[in-house]
Amino acid sequence: MKRLAAVLFTCLVITAISQAESRTDGPKGIVLAHPEEAGMGQPFLVRLTSARAFDRLSVHWMGRVVVPSVAQWNQRHVAIAMLGTDVLTIKSGPQPLLIRAWSGGKETVWHRSVTIVARSYPRQELTLPSKMVNPPGAELARIKAERIRTQTAKNTWSDQRFWQLPFHQPVGGKITSTYGLQRILNGKPKDPHRGLDFRAPPGTAVEAVADGRVILAESHYYAGNAIYIDHGNGVISLYFHLSEFEVFQGDSVKRGQIIGRAGCTGRATGPHLHLSISAQGQLVDPAPLFEQTTDQLIR
Ligand SMILES: [Zn+2]
Repeated sequence: MKRLAAVLFTCLVITAISQAESRTDGPKGIVLAHPEEAGMGQPFLVRLTSARAFDRLSVHWMGRVVVPSVAQWNQRHVAIAMLGTDVLTIKSGPQPLLIRAWSGGKETVWHRSVTIVARSYPRQELTLPSKMVNPPGAELARIKAERIRTQTAKNTWSDQRFWQLPFHQPVGGKITSTYGLQRILNGKPKDPHRGLDFRAPPGTAVEAVADGRVILAESHYYAGNAIYIDHGNGVISLYFHLSEFEVFQGDSVKRGQIIGRAGCTGRATGPHLHLSISAQGQLVDPAPLFEQTTDQLIR
């Protein structure tokens, strides 16, 4: 009971500090930084910095336990976790963020929250052949099996972090459809667009956004030829509608390495590259990850 009271007291003190600013010195010199707010569907980072080595760390967000890898930088131990929400499922309001750090045999717990702020995303009307909007019955079993495989891939966890910010843009073309677009297909509202579409003529080289390992490279009903790359610590990139694969499942890839060629396989109105980013199973807006640094995604 005494210990519980001590932990609660520590939490209260830290919470009181945290309301003034998101960057605080915890006991034993651990510095925690994270944004107070994040837009719906937007990615953000949590960073823990300590002069002393961490024995163990965990970041708890949206039902996930994230154990970020620790790097040494400037004689400090630094751990970074990429978190975010999915525009399909998230509601506005505060979301609890719990962080636990063990250092020198002692545990520090931070009870925080990140307020998810509503965003109005634009609308787009599309007309497609009705067989692509409503798949034929014979394809339903295939679509279901693919959904299970892609869910598993999106939720891959690996202990080592390979990604760095900013991400490498996979093709040079401009963005034609942004994240969060409210799409109306043949007059019916559909799920929002949970990725970026880049203009890319057929055959355009598609490059990896960061170092990682190919965990899926196969043909799907909706996504066409699709590649999933695991960048470690719960961050996965997805590339859809490719005309060709330039890598195999299991390959290790480097940031900027050619992994495939753009095309219009699967459900696509024309040749383009669709890119999605999964952070802890949430399909977040990839755009800030190309433009912003670690420091900008913590504020
Ligand atoms: Zn798309």
